[in-house]
Amino acid sequence: MTRREMLDNLRSHTAEWDAIIIGGGATGVGVAIDAASRGYDTLLLERIDFGKGTSSRSTKLVHGGVRYLEQGNISLVMEALKERGILRNNAPHLVSDLEFIVPSYDWWQAPFYGLGLKLYNMLSGKYGFGASRILSREETLRRLPTINPDRLRGGVVYYDGQFDDARLLINMVATAAEQGATLVNYCSVTGLTKDAEGFVSGVTARDEESGQTFTATAKVVINATGPFTDSVRALADPTIQPMISPSQGVHLVFDRSFLPDESALMVPHTRDGRVMFAIPWHGHTLVGTTDTAIPEATIDPSPMEAEIEFILTTAAKYLHKAPSRSDVLSVFTGIRPLVKAANSRNTAALSRDHTIHIDESGLLSIAGGKWTTYRNMAEDCVNHAATLGKLPDRECSTTRLNIHGFHPQAEKFGALSFYGSDAPAIQALMRDDPALAEPLNPALPYVGAEVAWAVRHEMARTVEDVLSRRTRALFLNSRAAIDAAPKVAAPRERARRPRAGA
Ligand SMILES: Cc1cc2nc3c(=O)[nH]c(=O)nc-3n(C[C@H](O)[C@H](O)[C@H](O)COP(=O)(O)OP(=O)(O)OC[C@H]3O[C@@H](n4cnc5c(N)ncnc54)[C@H](O)[C@@H]3O)c2cc1C
Repeated sequence: MTRREMLDNLRSHTAEWDAIIIGGGATGVGVAIDAASRGYDTLLLERIDFGKGTSSRSTKLVHGGVRYLEQGNISLVMEALKERGILRNNAPHLVSDLEFIVPSYDWWQAPFYGLGLKLYNMLSGKYGFGASRILSREETLRRLPTINPDRLRGGVVYYDGQFDDARLLINMVATAAEQGATLVNYCSVTGLTKDAEGFVSGVTARDEESGQTFTATAKVVINATGPFTDSVRALADPTIQPMISPSQGVHLVFDRSFLPDESALMVPHTRDGRVMFAIPWHGHTLVGTTDTAIPEATIDPSPMEAEIEFILTTAAKYLHKAPSRSDVLSVFTGIRPLVKAANSRNTAALSRDHTIHIDESGLLSIAGGKWTTYRNMAEDCVNHAATLGKLPDRECSTTRLNIHGFHPQAEKFGALSFYGSDAPAIQALMRDDPALAEPLNPALPYVGAEVAWAVRHEMARTVEDVLSRRTRALFLNSRAAIDAAPKVAAPRERARRPRAGA
């Protein structure tokens, strides 16, 4: 999978595409897999890097969403729990079970949450991850030795899924390409073309590396730009009513000592009624998230002071050793592309269901939903797109489509387990050139061979692509990632990189 091959496909494709997808996050790439696997001629354009938007900045949970149960959105929970099971079957190298503990500090909490979590497990039906149960104080402390023991009565344990969002996305790009789709990163859609009747008939786009512009036509154009949905809709009609209500979520990353075992902590009700997680991830501790309405989406959102303070204070309430600012190794912020509700000012209460919207211009937009439900969202989207674009009817087959890298026992590859069936090729790189087996930085779990692999086979174009979304270095430890940057840029790791602009 190289960008040069993708650009060659694009240049040699003079006919109309069946579908052009704008946006290379979970939603867009999910749609590309679905459309291409039905045999539709599919092009996807991403203006920066695959996953540069929200899809690399999630809490990394493949889950039904306990909080939606509380909101009474049973159908969303059931759909997400089913998708959780399908994703674990199709990408076992990237999705794993995770044990969550809900601590109880009041007499009513364990029976109350115990009942809710039993229902949560029941709703997963044959896709269940394990039965929930009430824990004694001793069992809770054994599983979460760093939890605040003051007034602790016990807890409830339940199971959900965890994944590496950006790694899954990169493997999904490869899956879409294997199914015949053409996907190009660093290629912005700058305009929409229209036919004689005023319906959207294609896109104008710019290759951000060469600066060249081009047009491509399609039977249907799908806008999957998440928080930027309205700005793409406005390319077809500047008078549209916005449909997205952006809300930002912040995570802080700490070292492993804050959560040294394999269990995660889940707080169902923070001071302001939100859910807070502390999760072990890649040998670190991830704590978040917030949910703050923002006026406008930006490419690189920054955390607000109040959000950082809120996470630190909430974590201090539940963890024995209170984390401080100097313990923070990294911070990342993502923007939820929530779909507006007529009369809700609280974004936490907005639905996480996805929405498919077709403008009068015939532009189809898909927004909202969750990472967990990307496959089902894509199926729904392509069903609508096929009708709109008068494409031949073809069944969706993605419930049983393995994601690139599928490997049933990937854990045998140790630190390279996240690459699944690609891991032996990375091991071979290290054997051929032992210098590539050296760590990028002592504080990071990555070696030079992963950089070479990312550049040669995963369409990484910049140092940041490698540090943020091919490895997760910048998300785990920003100082160590900055120290590693010159190594990533060095010729050995980039060896045999395709020429710039290719
Ligand atoms: C803080 C937080 C935590 C979350 N945690 C979870 C979780 O644990 N589990 C879960 O299931 N879900 C979670 N979610 C939800 C999930 O992450 C999102 O629903 C999902 O990532 C949205 O993907 P997307 O593809 O719609 O948007 P994005 O990932 O933002 O992708 C949109 C893409 O469109 C591109 N684009 C924009 N304009 C153009 C243009 N003109 N031309 C070409 N490309 C363009 C952007 O560069 C971007 O890459 C979380 C969300 C947030 C914010």
